[in-house]
Order: sequence, then structure tokens, then C-alpha cells
Amino acid sequence: MYNIDIFLTNTKSGQKERFIPIDASSVRMYVCGPTVYSRPHLGNARAAVVFDLLYRILKIKYESVTYVRNITDIDDKIIEASKARGITVDELTKAVTEQYHSDVLELRCIKPTVEPRAKDHIDDMINIIRLLISNGNAYIASDHVLFDVRSFDGYCDLSSRDISEMVGGARVKVEDYKKHYADFVLWKPEEERGMGFYSPWGYGRPGWHMECSAMSYKYLNRDFDIHGGGIDLLFPHHENERAQSCCAFPNSTFAKYWVHNGFLDIDGQKMSKSLNNIKTVGDLLNAGFKGHVIRYALLAAHYRKPLNFEDKLLEDAKKSLQKFEGAIAVHNICKSTGEIDGQALEALFDDMNTPALFARMHKLASSTDEHSVQMLFNLMELLGFSEQRDNSIPQDVIDIIAQRDEARKNKNWKKSDELRSILVDLGYEIRDSNNGTHIVKIL
Ligand SMILES: [Zn+2]
Repeated sequence: MYNIDIFLTNTKSGQKERFIPIDASSVRMYVCGPTVYSRPHLGNARAAVVFDLLYRILKIKYESVTYVRNITDIDDKIIEASKARGITVDELTKAVTEQYHSDVLELRCIKPTVEPRAKDHIDDMINIIRLLISNGNAYIASDHVLFDVRSFDGYCDLSSRDISEMVGGARVKVEDYKKHYADFVLWKPEEERGMGFYSPWGYGRPGWHMECSAMSYKYLNRDFDIHGGGIDLLFPHHENERAQSCCAFPNSTFAKYWVHNGFLDIDGQKMSKSLNNIKTVGDLLNAGFKGHVIRYALLAAHYRKPLNFEDKLLEDAKKSLQKFEGAIAVHNICKSTGEIDGQALEALFDDMNTPALFARMHKLASSTDEHSVQMLFNLMELLGFSEQRDNSIPQDVIDIIAQRDEARKNKNWKKSDELRSILVDLGYEIRDSNNGTHIVKIL
């Protein structure tokens, strides 16, 4: 299909590397999905959009791409939130999962190939924990099963942390049943019935990291191409997933490429509960911003860089998309030809260089050449930036357009301008060009 290579920055090496899949006929990617206890915030949204873009890029070059994004529906935070809201865990996770699906759909994310839920994979987790115990990488202490970090030579090779430099007990309380302060939970006991699961080690719950090791193994096998997620998950979550999977399946490399998106700040500040500045996708949708505008804003910075989310970013995204839509309307383009602009493709394949992609799209939009604008249209469709096209323009709008055409014919410019501003109030913008009059829905 396309002969140019895809490059990705691999967190493990810290280098931009040529992407060479383990099996080009079946490319496989796992991305850590949301913990479903509250409506997705913009940090969750950034990860969803970044990996949706990567999925679309991989699909340009490879015929078969399996994208697994899990739902974490077992977690202490979920239990706390369900109690606080006075509903059951199942009611909460179902409602929040539905909300997540609806929000990422608004952001034009395509459905992953598989979206496994942790709760449906308890047996798979138990099997991996069994392997870890029998391989000598895990031990049982005080009704917990713990991973022995010193049993894995490669521990912290991914995040490049030096765990010997961290003073155990100085910052975090170290449970006395642990052999090493960094040993982490594979299974922990639960006293409250209904909040846990049965296992060979008693009634309890799996550790969060174990959930992803089990689900990636089940759907992608022991070695796969890309593991993605936000950079906040690098340690301990990804480090621990990797340790578990490499030890359960000896000689496994687990993920070949680790891809992480950067932090998202709000108005220059870290998004946090204590600062009370957590913004959700819902907040922006309720404020009237369309999903594809939010998507564009989330991709404005390179995915690895921190993204400072502020109103100006959304306003700029809106203006850019309006410019693109305007250019498309002038040329009356409404169908993709499937051809991909070469420079845009290079930007996409070069470590998802969205700033370069957007610069190219602006250039295409500024061109008077119809082919360039067709290329812009194709990119908008391919990458999820098109306003969902609604061909059903309301009758009253059509009537006003006809009246305005009549006024223009009679050179009644005053009336024509008045009708134009009525259309703006109704949410439509008129654009006149040599090819005729076009109506554009205002974003
Ligand atoms: Zn995970």
C-alpha cells in the first residue's frame, strides 16, 4: 500500500524508531482505557484521541490492525464512588462506561477492535498469578499475593527508575509483610461480600496492573507491537504490567514499542482535584463546543509534549476548522476520493506530527486549486475532523436563502445583508463564490 515507514518514539529506548511490526499481516496494539468511576476528563480524552489517531494511521499502512482498549471496572476508586453515590458498583460502572462511549464518539474516535472489561477476566488473571507463583516471582503474605520486584532483572528498564535510590518508608508507608517496599499487589483480600471474587488465595480483588497483563495476553498474545497510554501510567502501572507479563511468560518481550502521550494542563496548571480545575469532555460539550473542535484542540500539540488546554486553543481549533469547511464549501466538495496528500502522510507517519499535519492542512485550505482542497477534504474524513454532515437543512433556512438570492438578483444589498444576518442567528453562514452560493453550518 504505502511504502514509506511509520516512525514512533519508543519510551523504552527514548528514541524515535522505525516501526517494524512483529507480523505485518496482523498488527496489534493495546491501550490502557479508563477506570470507570467518573465522567472522562480531558486527560482521558487526550489519550483516547491520540491513540485513535495512531489506530487510523496504522490502518492506512496495514490491512489488519487489532486495537484493544480495556475498561477498568474493578478498582478501589469505583467502590468508593459507588458508596458515595448510593448506587451499586455495577450501576456506577455501567453508567460511566456509557458516558465514556458517548464522549469518545463525540470526539470522533472509532471503536477499538475489542474493548474487554476487567470483571470478565478474573480467571485469566488468576492463571497468570498462578504462573508467577510457580515461576518464583510472587509470594503470599498476610492473605496478599505480591510480586517480588527483585526477582526480575529488568524491573525499571522501561521507566528508568532506580528503585534503590528511593528510600523505602520515607515517603510511603511500607507494609511490613512486603519483602521490598516496591513489591506490588497481584491479589488482595476483601472482607465485604459482593465487592470481591473467589480465588485460590481467598476472597478478594486483583491488583490493577494484573488486569491489563491478563487482557493484553488474552486478546493479543504474549508479544505484541504497541502498548500505549498516558505518561502518568509509565510508573508504576506499565512497569509492573511489563514485569508480570515478562515473568509469567519467560522469554517474552511483551510490548515491542511503548508509546506515551504527555500531560494535559488546564490554563497552565496541573489538573487536579485539590485545585478544583478538573475539566470533563461534558463540560466542553455543554459549553457548546463540538466534538471535532475539541478533537482538533487535543491534537494541536505533538502528542508527547505537554498540552496546555485553554480557551484560546479551542477558539483557534474552531477557526481552523471553519476555514477548512469554508474552502471545501467554495469548491463544493462532498465526497472523499481516498487519495492521501503526500506531505500530510509524511507528517502522520513521522511520529504522529500533528503540528506539521495541521500546517499542511492550512496550506491546502489556502490554495485556490481544487485538487488541494479535495486533498484537505480527504484528510478531514480520514482523520475524524469533519463536522458530521447533516444534509437536512431546515425548510425555513432554505426559504431565507431563496429570498436572499432574489434580493441579490434585484441588487437589494441591504435586504440581502439583513437576511444573511438572520441566517447567522439561525446558525448558518452563507458563502458566495464563482461556483454559486453555499451554506455552511457554523461550528
Ligand atoms: Zn493498563
